[in-house]
Amino acid sequence: MPSYDRNNVFARILRGELPCRKVYEDEFALAFHDIRPLAPVHVLVVPKGDYVSNADFAASAPAEQVAGFWRAVGRVAHELGLDSPGYRLVANHGPMSGQSVFHFHVHIFGGKAMPHDMTRLPEAHAKA
Ligand code: 5GP
Repeated sequence: MPSYDRNNVFARILRGELPCRKVYEDEFALAFHDIRPLAPVHVLVVPKGDYVSNADFAASAPAEQVAGFWRAVGRVAHELGLDSPGYRLVANHGPMSGQSVFHFHVHIFGGKAMPHDMTRLPEAHAKA
């Protein structure tokens, strides 16, 4: 895994240097719409802190940060109205997974039925 690059795109969004379509923010996390949605709802939740991946976050983040981050993920999904129809969480770790931004993040996919095959992501969502 690469070491943490403080100029990765999510770090820059967190610092307000790049824009995003914000969904939610608290002291632990920021959530915003993915720039290339793969489902009708495709939101990214990123922790506030310099964590490359889930392994890094799980091993290094203070317990309060881990709890606060995962509560934010649940709250965002709830506020997006996804609890009842359901949603999928994905966190890519490392190049073989397809991780392309090396600041830990969780994808929330919703708004359509998804294949049960967990190796298949939702197909690209064409915006009207
Ligand atoms: P990964 O492949 O690392 O799991 O996910 C990175 C995600 O970040 C991709 O789905 C990609 O579309 C999204 N992304 C990359 N750059 C930007 C950006 O500048 N803004 C937003 N909102 N999403 C981005």
